[in-house]
Amino acid sequence: MNMITNHMPTAELQALDAAHHIHPFSAQGELAKKGARVIMRAKGVTLTDSEGEEILDGMAGLWCVNIGYGRDELAEVAARQMRELPYYNTFFQTTHVPVIALSAKLAELAPGDLNHVFYGGSGSEANDTNMRLVRTYWAQKGKDSKKVIISRKNAYHGSTMAGASLGGMSGMHAQGGLPLPDVHHINQPNWYAEGGDMTPEEFGLQRARELEEAILEMGEDRVAAFIAEPVQGAGGVIVAPDTYWPEIQRICDKYEILLIVDEVICGFGRTGNWFGCQTLNIRPDIITVAKGLSSGYAPIAASIVSDEVAEVIGGCEFNHGYTYSGHPVAAAVALENLRILEEEKIVETVREDTAPYLKEKWEALADHPLVGEAKIVGMMASVALTPNKETRAPFAADVGTVGLICREHCFGNNLIMRHVGDRMVISPPLVITKEEIDTLIERARRALDLTLAQLKEEDLLK
Ligand code: PMP
Repeated sequence: MNMITNHMPTAELQALDAAHHIHPFSAQGELAKKGARVIMRAKGVTLTDSEGEEILDGMAGLWCVNIGYGRDELAEVAARQMRELPYYNTFFQTTHVPVIALSAKLAELAPGDLNHVFYGGSGSEANDTNMRLVRTYWAQKGKDSKKVIISRKNAYHGSTMAGASLGGMSGMHAQGGLPLPDVHHINQPNWYAEGGDMTPEEFGLQRARELEEAILEMGEDRVAAFIAEPVQGAGGVIVAPDTYWPEIQRICDKYEILLIVDEVICGFGRTGNWFGCQTLNIRPDIITVAKGLSSGYAPIAASIVSDEVAEVIGGCEFNHGYTYSGHPVAAAVALENLRILEEEKIVETVREDTAPYLKEKWEALADHPLVGEAKIVGMMASVALTPNKETRAPFAADVGTVGLICREHCFGNNLIMRHVGDRMVISPPLVITKEEIDTLIERARRALDLTLAQLKEEDLLK
């Protein structure tokens, strides 16, 4: 047991944290003044902080703890694997049982002929792999000029140099000289914010055709791949209009470009099927998986590629790999997680029972005076906040001001709901019960009420 976490008062822990720990995606100075909430333990969908408060985790950590917290089976498998073989690499003509078993299992679960797995430690790493993989693929086919990867604004594909470049987050591009060369971004299919007077269907088609325009503009001989999340997660749970994906698929089929579907959030049950591409009827050449692969219990990610991609890459020495590619402990934990997902029929329960229940309750939030739209696919959902439901207008205050106020009210009411600008998003553990869904909705509604009251008081409702 760790002396620090068990014996120090919250304020001292916060002071030490502020003094020595640099938080991701945080304004360090501001956070230091306020103090980070110290999370001590968790079970099911509930976190407990250092003051003993119980918090409903509406985000499954960072969209990852799909089977819920506190599953002993995973701890036991990890301990057993650490004793048996804590580490070995697969670089130099060696392999091990956990990585063999996990690869075979993923080939069985993944759709179509996605039968070959390259491992990383995070979604960002897996997308770095994808960037190198698709360029190497085309070079192997004698088409060196096919290097450009087309992505979308407001996409999230990670935080390494390649991940952040592939992503379309302007705040990330503004720091550190990104994006890398030969990454091109088209507009996102966010009808609510950008659709204007078009119908969602017209808008979906128009945004998909930007892919075709970009390919024609740059030349088919320069474009290697298109990458996208089935449902944009970190961008605010943006669900594309129904016309979007069929058109994207048509364009990818017509031109010689690879389709990379980033399933880091959508994979392993989040959308009500094993993979988001099944929910949305997309046929990728490569998928990126992470997060739900181990339910966040161990850092592991992968690129799962088609027979054809694997065959082409197999024709050369692919000079790429991470020390922790296919880490035996992480692989064993992932396998156990997949066993639980399958044997407890968690994906089926989401699809047939709990997600439809959540959908009904979530969509009812659209009645709230602050809510411009409520969107949901499986167990990922968002509401857009607005001062004017009819016009879908943004707030006059800086983007994110109102979202942050709402998030603070959620946090104050022991619900973790994230804000992306002025959209509120949830992605709870897939094992959430109907009773817990009721609690989540009750707290979300209370946070919306408190936000509305505060906006009126501070004259921000405009
Ligand atoms: N792709 C998507 C779609 C993601 O949501 C994320 C993380 N939120 C990543 C990639 C990056 O994963 P990681 O944080 O594990 O590097």
